[in-house]
Amino acid sequence: AEALLSVKGLKVHYPVRQGWRGRSLAVRAVDGVDLSLRAGQCLGLVGESGCGKSTIAQAILGLVPATSGHIRVDGHDITGGRRADPMQLARSAQMVFQDPMSSLNPRQTIREILAGPLRLHGMGNRDERDARVQEMLRLVGMKPDAASRRPDEFSGGQRQRLCIARALILNPKLVICDEPVSALDVSIRAQIINLLLELKDELGIALLLISHDLGVVEHMSDRIAVMYLGRIVEEGGWREIFTDPAHPYTRALISAIPDPLHRDQAPERLRGEIPSPLNPPPGCAFHPRCPVAMDRCSAGANPEFTTIGPDHRGRCHLIESELQDA
Ligand code: SF4
Ligand code: MG
Repeated sequence: AEALLSVKGLKVHYPVRQGWRGRSLAVRAVDGVDLSLRAGQCLGLVGESGCGKSTIAQAILGLVPATSGHIRVDGHDITGGRRADPMQLARSAQMVFQDPMSSLNPRQTIREILAGPLRLHGMGNRDERDARVQEMLRLVGMKPDAASRRPDEFSGGQRQRLCIARALILNPKLVICDEPVSALDVSIRAQIINLLLELKDELGIALLLISHDLGVVEHMSDRIAVMYLGRIVEEGGWREIFTDPAHPYTRALISAIPDPLHRDQAPERLRGEIPSPLNPPPGCAFHPRCPVAMDRCSAGANPEFTTIGPDHRGRCHLIESELQDA
């Protein structure tokens, strides 16, 4: 079956001017990314803040134009972003944001908020929209009387349930969750994670989970793509990534998960911060922070993908040489 989401060779570059002479430079926020996701699957896209993962979400939602490459959702080419049919875009992909406080209008009732996308696209009459709102409230585990209340009457976890209900009301095929639990109290994160997983199975939607937190990704994802400075550096199935991580960056992220099950791994602390995409390091972009960098890593081009297994690939010179030696 064709993938529900297919991203090929996606680049999103922003022009910026630097210095008093106004030299024009390109920020390579996303620099040649391929992704594919099937219905009923969750793909975890992980990396530190600034690696380009949120820009990929914005490109899929048509909020930023692609510099080059293609994005297809459910067979529709939506690469055109703003030029694409808004109805098509809205029914293809919807977003759940990090902060459920600021993404719900405090002046509106929950009924008005949830029915908003239906009204915007001229769907149903008032009774039909109310019925759909009630259906969504049930789906996310909220009581019917929530419809007449306002956002500030709910806790952070309840508000995130309402944001999920709003994202689902147009029956989208793909739901993108950008850090869906990082603004929430630790004690209620599991409830929201479980709700998203139940909805994925029940509705057969595809979930694109964007997070810096590999612990959250581990609980939700079937497949994982690890991003660094605008590129995917390793990708594979859950088992491949969590039991046999190949890229030094993935290993460092896994060893940073505060989970006793992973304590037997040698702690590989990450030094420094992610460099600016304005001025990426030469060679392997990860080399200034890589604990096992070799001389050859700081020169030449970024490593190409090496196939490690049927559902596993990574970009690192060590992976290339290990496979040659094997
Ligand atoms: Fe580290 Fe070199 Fe591999 Fe880059 S190519 S991740 S610097 S070992
Ligand atoms: Mg982000």
